[in-house]
Amino acid sequence: MSYSIFCVGHPLIDMQVREAEDLLTKYKLKANDAILADVEREPIYEELARERQVVFVAGGAAQNTARGAAYILPPNSVVFAGCVGDDDLAEQLRDANRREGVLDVYQVKQGQKTGACAVLISSGHNRSLVTTRRVSNDLDEEHFWSPTVAPLINSAKVIYMEGYMLTHRADISIRLAKRVSSAGKISVLNLSAPYIPRLYNAQIQEIAPYCDIIVSNEAEAEAWAVSNGHPEPTNMSVVAKAIALLPKANTIPPRIVVVTQGALSTTVVSADDFAPKIYPVQPLREEEIVDTNAAGDAFAGGFLAAYVLEKNLDICIETGHRLAAMCIGQEGPRYKWPKVQVL
Ligand code: ADP
Ligand code: MG
Repeated sequence: MSYSIFCVGHPLIDMQVREAEDLLTKYKLKANDAILADVEREPIYEELARERQVVFVAGGAAQNTARGAAYILPPNSVVFAGCVGDDDLAEQLRDANRREGVLDVYQVKQGQKTGACAVLISSGHNRSLVTTRRVSNDLDEEHFWSPTVAPLINSAKVIYMEGYMLTHRADISIRLAKRVSSAGKISVLNLSAPYIPRLYNAQIQEIAPYCDIIVSNEAEAEAWAVSNGHPEPTNMSVVAKAIALLPKANTIPPRIVVVTQGALSTTVVSADDFAPKIYPVQPLREEEIVDTNAAGDAFAGGFLAAYVLEKNLDICIETGHRLAAMCIGQEGPRYKWPKVQVL
């Protein structure tokens, strides 16, 4: 098998620092939070690089999913495209992808900075995330159809997009989805964060006809339901069915909607029968949970890996659950355990 999954998203590098109490005070941050950096917080990345022991971990939603899928699949199965700068941070990302078996095909913008996320760990399990998107927002459409990248898209079976792509120049992602779905590929969208369906609902409506699989967690599904005036926004079976019923450009394959709910069961609706299926999750014990960050990204990686191996839906969900559990048992979105059988 060769490069069956092509992922697109914002490449971000996580810069983890421990004992970050002083930084929380200095940059006026909450111990447990996730924000986009404003001008006042922008100097934090330079300060971390200069003055602290930083552990660099590859991040970014779709890039995490790519690394998750690559953990399961044979070498040369997963590609990730996004936009980076010509800096050290991009090098760190390349190293992580190389180590973890993802081929990255970055668009590089000279003189620009790679997106980053400061992960400030303080006493206990507290972590404050401060993201700066920087040049990750600026992926150009031409990059997809460049001589290096176009063949990778053309030979992939599945194209996976993070919902964050809909926040900026959404037309690029919408055209990509349209093009790949009309070429008979499986196009997958992750809603990524509640604010995506809250603020970019129109863009979701526009891309949905070209999406064969839509993945979200319960908060994102609920936000979608609220944005669309749904009467029962917290009933995941009903909401998943409503998403499955969104207009679709082609009828085959029928759309699959997957809604994860953390430690609770995952709900799946397929547009072939619209009957909700509930898949139980084995909740992890408190002492087994290290970091629930990126659990959803790992789930999507496991799901996609099983999907391209042509496993049935039950196994796809099970593989997603297992990879997510593995991710939660480790710090950061990593899959560093000795290769275990997840399929
Ligand atoms: P997100 O990270 O997007 O919020 P979820 O919280 O729904 O996504 O988690 C995705 C998956 O991670 C779940 O379907 C489940 O498989 C796994 N998961 C999350 N929390 C737990 C938990 N406490 N115990 C076991 N599995 C979990
Ligand atoms: Mg969650």
